[in-house]
Order: sequence, then C-alpha cells, then structure tokens
Amino acid sequence: MAVPFRRTSKTAKRKRRSHFKLEIPGMVKCPNCGETVKPHHVCVECGYYNGKEVISVEASK
Ligand SMILES: [Zn+2]
Repeated sequence: MAVPFRRTSKTAKRKRRSHFKLEIPGMVKCPNCGETVKPHHVCVECGYYNGKEVISVEASK
C-alpha cells in the first residue's frame, strides 16, 4: 500500500474539510409563513400551497 510522502499540512487538511458539512437538500421558504418547506409540497405550518390554503391547520392542532 502506498504511504503519503509528506504529512498533510493543517491548512491543506482544513481546506479539504471545508466541504464536509451538513446541509438541508432542496428546501425552500414558504411564501406565506416563511417556514422552510419541501418544494412542490403543502406547507405543514400554515397549510398553504400555490398561494391558497389547501389544508386546514387549525383543525388538526
Ligand atoms: Zn407556510
């Protein structure tokens, strides 16, 4: 097995790891309440989709 010729510097290590991060994939803000929601899905916070209230949230709370 090949062995690295040089030790990886702190800077090189940190630069490489700058891409290691958690992210929320494909989320958008609800235009009605500002909650983070999945695109093309009804907002679970306010029940709005495409500018209209499509499900009643008050009844389920
Ligand atoms: Zn909403």
